[in-house]
Amino acid sequence: MKQFTVQSKKRNQMINITSLISDIVKDSTIDSGIAVIFTPHTTAAITINENADPDVKNDMLKGLKIITPNRLSYGHMEGNSDAHIKSSLIGVDQTIIIENNEPQLGTWQGIYFCEFDGPRTRTVYVKLIKE
Ligand code: ZN
Repeated sequence: MKQFTVQSKKRNQMINITSLISDIVKDSTIDSGIAVIFTPHTTAAITINENADPDVKNDMLKGLKIITPNRLSYGHMEGNSDAHIKSSLIGVDQTIIIENNEPQLGTWQGIYFCEFDGPRTRTVYVKLIKE
């Protein structure tokens, strides 16, 4: 298993980790298989979405804020229940197909680490499985 850390700078932030994943796949020399990308945190997530217009990730964070307001009277004493809800909504992992030693992403797709309770130093695990 490979792993790397991500340093977020804001409370809510989407960080493009596509090149980090591509480099791990290329270094593996796996021609065909799958990559599982997983973050071991309860207030963060991994997603795949548009990598072209930066407004897409800003709008996603805006939409998530509307879905999970942080001013509700939640019981969780830490005060970050909105971040826990976002983590479960988006999910902490993605599985990507590897073919010809490359992640098979669409032209407009990028892999994002999603921070919902930053700034923090976060960990991402990558498990590659050869076909
Ligand atoms: Zn909490």
